[in-house]
Amino acid sequence: MVDAQEAEEAVAQAVTVIGLGPMGRAMASAFLGRGYRVTVWNRTAGKADELAAEGAALAATVHDALAASELVVLSLTDHHAMYAVLEPATEALSGRVLVNLSSHTPQSARDASRWASAHGAAYLTGGVLASPPGIGRPGSSAFYSGPEATFATHREALEVLTATDYRGADPGLAALYYQAVTDLFWTTVLGWLHALALAEAHGVAAGELLPSASSVLAGMPEFLAFYTPRIEAGEHAGDIDRLAMGAASAGHVLQTARDAGVDTSLPNAVLEIFRRGTAAGHAGDSVTSLIELLKGPAEVAGPGPGSKHGLR
Ligand code: NDP
Repeated sequence: MVDAQEAEEAVAQAVTVIGLGPMGRAMASAFLGRGYRVTVWNRTAGKADELAAEGAALAATVHDALAASELVVLSLTDHHAMYAVLEPATEALSGRVLVNLSSHTPQSARDASRWASAHGAAYLTGGVLASPPGIGRPGSSAFYSGPEATFATHREALEVLTATDYRGADPGLAALYYQAVTDLFWTTVLGWLHALALAEAHGVAAGELLPSASSVLAGMPEFLAFYTPRIEAGEHAGDIDRLAMGAASAGHVLQTARDAGVDTSLPNAVLEIFRRGTAAGHAGDSVTSLIELLKGPAEVAGPGPGSKHGLR
């Protein structure tokens, strides 16, 4: 039998999810599965149908969606979408806790936090390290940052979605961690795809390369752990590897790609960075010396002009 206090607690567990792409739908579904009272809203209303069948309440307007729960999870393409959705309903933001799990930059997260605060809402930034099928399952996690007390209050609800990794009070921090690991993710995925193109040009199928590709990546934690303290100390001794060797090796990858007739834009970009490092006098230093060069602003193609809210 449910006593009055338990019933009250059950009623108190309300959450609104705004944005029902694959990620938002998985999140709303996870909350429903854990007994939360879930209200959803999406620009394209049809995407809420399955959730309604699972028991979600469909808000007719963004205003209604915000009014339904103190805790509001945003799962939108980016911050352009967030402003497009919330600006017509700013009068309903007061007293809400916005947990923005939409990808954007650290600076835009700080700006969004100030914007929310000006409308009376608390703001947490999140960066989810999972694909939609991983939501609500062990092994997935998300970075969070923003006011610690707000995070602590809503941590249990957020852990319905993924494990949480709170990075600090600065709302930009979760976005920073998210973009840093996303930088690593995309460059790794592109490196893998390029390696597959090279292999396939020689009649070697993706599956045949899989064990070797996996073995290289499995060795990465040891590689990173060895070099990280040296990088933190600003030491780039060429006792294990020399940049000149790396440049020659990157050149061989580029030539192999040329010979195979596959796209050379990625190995060209890699070799160019090695060449800039050797030209800067680091030929006898480790490949890690390239970080000093990467800290600088050399950029091939810059972003376009900024738009409203300073977004790019
Ligand atoms: P989608 O881009 O597929 O969907 C996002 C939602 O944003 C949709 O509800 C869409 O509405 C809405 N939207 C976009 N632009 C506007 C706009 N101008 N006005 C109103 N609504 C808008 O994203 P996902 O669901 O895949 O992901 C959501 C967030 O999670 C993204 O920031 C993504 O980077 C991040 N993420 C996604 C992962 C994934 O594997 N999918 C993994 C990790 C993070 P509508 O339905 O009407 O188009």
